Amino acid sequence: MTANNPAQRLALCGDILHFLRDPGWGEDATDAVHFEPDGWLLIEAGRVHAVRAASDPPDASWPRQDWRGHLLLPGFIDPHVHAPQLDVIASYGAALLDWLERYTFPAEARYADPEQSRQGAERFLHALLEHGTTAAMVFATVHKTSSEALFAAAQRLGMRLITGKVLMDRNCPANLRDDVAQAEADCEDLIARWHGVDRLAYAVTPRFAATSSPEQLAMAGGLLQRHAQRAGGLYMQTHVAENRDEVRWIAGLFPDSRSYLDVYDRHGLLTRRSMLAHGIWLDDTDRARMAQVGSSIAFSPSSNLFLGSGLFDWAQAESARVGVAPASDVGGGTSLCQLRTLTDGYKVLALQGQRLTAWQGLYAVTRGAARALELEHEIGHFAPGTLADVVVWRWAMGTVQHRRQDMARSLHERLFAWMLLADERNVAATYVQGRLLYSTP
Ligand SMILES: [Zn+2]
Repeated sequence: MTANNPAQRLALCGDILHFLRDPGWGEDATDAVHFEPDGWLLIEAGRVHAVRAASDPPDASWPRQDWRGHLLLPGFIDPHVHAPQLDVIASYGAALLDWLERYTFPAEARYADPEQSRQGAERFLHALLEHGTTAAMVFATVHKTSSEALFAAAQRLGMRLITGKVLMDRNCPANLRDDVAQAEADCEDLIARWHGVDRLAYAVTPRFAATSSPEQLAMAGGLLQRHAQRAGGLYMQTHVAENRDEVRWIAGLFPDSRSYLDVYDRHGLLTRRSMLAHGIWLDDTDRARMAQVGSSIAFSPSSNLFLGSGLFDWAQAESARVGVAPASDVGGGTSLCQLRTLTDGYKVLALQGQRLTAWQGLYAVTRGAARALELEHEIGHFAPGTLADVVVWRWAMGTVQHRRQDMARSLHERLFAWMLLADERNVAATYVQGRLLYSTP
């Protein structure tokens, strides 16, 4: 099967679930959740053609793949993850700033080599598919070749990918340091060749305020402004207010800024296409500003727990109307699987007296993330015309999951237990634009 054959048809049969709208925070979300047990997902030329009930099967012109007894979901979207950090995932004993020095920077230095970048990009994208994720917003390294390799590999697979060369011209090892002029030239070249091509988009990517000079941040803001009309505008990704030592450091580096977030704001880096990881230590003024410009937070609970950074308060963001999308943040996070992100997210919120329903969790890693990235017309749900990025999941693996599924009395109970207990081992097959790219026996 290839995406190049426009007449290509495919009918997948299984328990289809997707969201028609934001389900809110209650367990009862009947008009937002569309569930078709043993339903039919019809795919034509890589796009969703229709979702039909079990009683309404397609005619014989539709080749069929039978996934009855499996759960069919839109591919998960990971809005914040670092491709080169697969090499240092689960590294012992450090908080953010020390972890960067000891593990991350040495690992990222290897990606100066184009061959390392090429192999790393393919390994990373394959790993995403293995974990049920079909679209992502990704940090490369400071090297132009690393984002080049990610774009090329994603293009070959037909995946939705947003990435960019990391900007870093101070407070980092010399072999990972760029300068304003070279960084600008590299970004312009990558934007010209990749932004808006197929399913690819460019993200201006200052690592965080500490590793970019004010001149480099101003250059980054200039890129966003200069290309604001190009394919809907560039994206921006960075980190903000992750850990308290980091927040104090930023305050010292930028004494004129009101807050950490304000450093980015002053340099024109906050737009409706800006995705800021963490945001644990923002204040009410910051949140109001993010809501005003439409920037989103990548909530990274696995990483926040692993590095001991703090507990993100989703309810506070929600009440300020700031968009939130759960993210793996590998390699600070310890799994690429967004189900594990949601499991950690549930626990982080529980410590603060908040409850993440299966509906809000699964919405947030599909249609909600698509909305935050202005991609709701393309991915995150199964409305006709969207691209058919589909993951087939096993409802249960092993004694515990099977017993728990057998005991569930309601659809929410079933999905909640699944969200907490399932992981990448439950992935049976991953389709991108209707093409089967990964499957397990
Ligand atoms: Zn990160």
